[in-house]
This record gives sequence, structure tokens and C-alpha cells, in this order.
Amino acid sequence: MGFQETHRSQQQTLSRPALIAGQGLFHGIDVKVRLCPADPGTGIVFRRVDLKDRPQVAAHVDNVKSAARRTVLASRSGAIVETVEHLMAALAGLQVDNCLIEIDSIEVPAVDGSSMPFCEAILAAGLSQQLTPRMRLSVAESQGVNDRAGEQWIEVIPACHGNTTIDYRLDYGPEAVIASQSFSVELTPEAFLRDIAAARTFVLQDEISALQQMGFGRHLTGRDLVVFDADGSVVDNKLRWQDEPVRHKILDCIGDLALSGCVFVGRVVARRSGHKLNHVMAKTLSTIDVCGALLERAA
Ligand SMILES: [Zn+2]
Repeated sequence: MGFQETHRSQQQTLSRPALIAGQGLFHGIDVKVRLCPADPGTGIVFRRVDLKDRPQVAAHVDNVKSAARRTVLASRSGAIVETVEHLMAALAGLQVDNCLIEIDSIEVPAVDGSSMPFCEAILAAGLSQQLTPRMRLSVAESQGVNDRAGEQWIEVIPACHGNTTIDYRLDYGPEAVIASQSFSVELTPEAFLRDIAAARTFVLQDEISALQQMGFGRHLTGRDLVVFDADGSVVDNKLRWQDEPVRHKILDCIGDLALSGCVFVGRVVARRSGHKLNHVMAKTLSTIDVCGALLERAA
């Protein structure tokens, strides 16, 4: 892919627009997104170009709307963009700070269920450094959240070095269809592309009928995402890695934490954390003040 390791200290945007088309994961509606260059300090902003007045929806945790199994954003004016997490992960993974995403329907294309097609489109368009420095937030005190049962949690703890890592343990219990698995990654664009970006959405066969009865994903087959049968085999598809599920959970985590609006330095330790807990952590990261964390310029 010709991506070279560099140590970036400036904000980045795309060099020119990148186009991606497809169907949304949950609703199956045909949709086109155009990732456009944006000024320093813009952050990631969606624009619903199919709606009157082309309303914008900032990709920020304050705009997260509660939804099952995906990340949905809604502006105060009611403009909605659904299933943003895999595109958000691609942008965060490649360290794109500023991007205006024009979208002509309600839901981001599912592509192949991973972030890789978004990454390829972004890299084909090219990245440009901007004159404004990227600010990184070094977490100075551990911050953690968990579910009521204590089975799921996510914590961000201070990093020994100036790096950000994610350690994730996926563990649905000894009887689970998907075996427990762990993965750890240091968040650099190179590691994201190599180890995380191609990991696809997965679902259990048993869950599909319930989701389809709710009207979601009726257009999907086993070729569109990873479906685990009750015996642990994969339906009509092959895993890209044996531990593809845990890598995808990290991908979701990267996309969701990017909604904090800050580039943080710290070690993320998570167990079974899903979108809901990720959003709580993103909110926590977005509200840490300078007493709890140190604002620093990117080295
Ligand atoms: Zn996902």
C-alpha cells in the first residue's frame, strides 16, 4: 500500500476528496460518502447532503444517540448518521484530524464490514499535513467504566511512554460460540493497517433472525460479514485471522473513542467492552480537564 512510517506532529487532512459507495449495514440503503479535505481545527464532521439545508453532524460523543449494536450520531436539529464507527476508526487509525464527510443517506456504507476499504480510499486520495499542531491529551490518572455486572469494562491508564495502546480481551464465557481471545496493539497507522483495519463485523447466527425481525440487515448474507454458527464454524465465509473478532472489537473501540474529539496518549485496557461502554469512556475523555490530564503538543 506504500504507506511509510513517519512521525507526524501536524494535523492532517485528505489531499483531495475520496469517494466510497455501498449499502448500509443495518438498513441496506444505497449510499455514497465523499470524504473531503477540511480546515485545521474542523475535526470530523458529517454533512447530510440529501436533506434540506444540508445539515452537519459533528462526530462527537455529545451527539451520540442510543442505538443497538452500532454508533449513531444525531445533531440538535435532528439530522442523523448511523453506523459511523468503522469509518471513524479508519480516520482515527490513519491519523486524519480534519475531514468533512458528505453523505447522501442515513447510514455509512458497510463496505466489507471492516475499515480497510475506507483506509484504501483515504490513502489513494493522499494525506496532507496542515500548519496547525495536533494536540495530544496525556491521561494522567486512570479513568475506568464498567457494566453493572462487572463483566465488561474499559479503562484508560497513563502510558509509560508517549504511545497509545489498546489491550482487549474478548471473553463471552466458557460455553460461548466464540472462543475467548486477546489482542494488543500500539496505535500507529502502520499497525492499524496491518493488524486491525481489515477485521470485519461479526454476529452469531442465532442473533441474525432477531435482528432481521426488527427490520435490520435483511439484505445481508454470510458473505457480507462474519457469521458464527452455533458450533463455532463460520457460515459461507473464512476468517481473515483466527482472532478476527477481538481485532474487530479493537477497531470499534478506536472508532468510538475518536468521538471524544481528542487524541489521547494512554493505555486502554478493555474486556468485552462494546459501543455503549466505549461511548461512556469517550465522554469521560472528552471532559477531562487539565487537572486530570496534561495537554501537550504532539512530539
Ligand atoms: Zn464494528
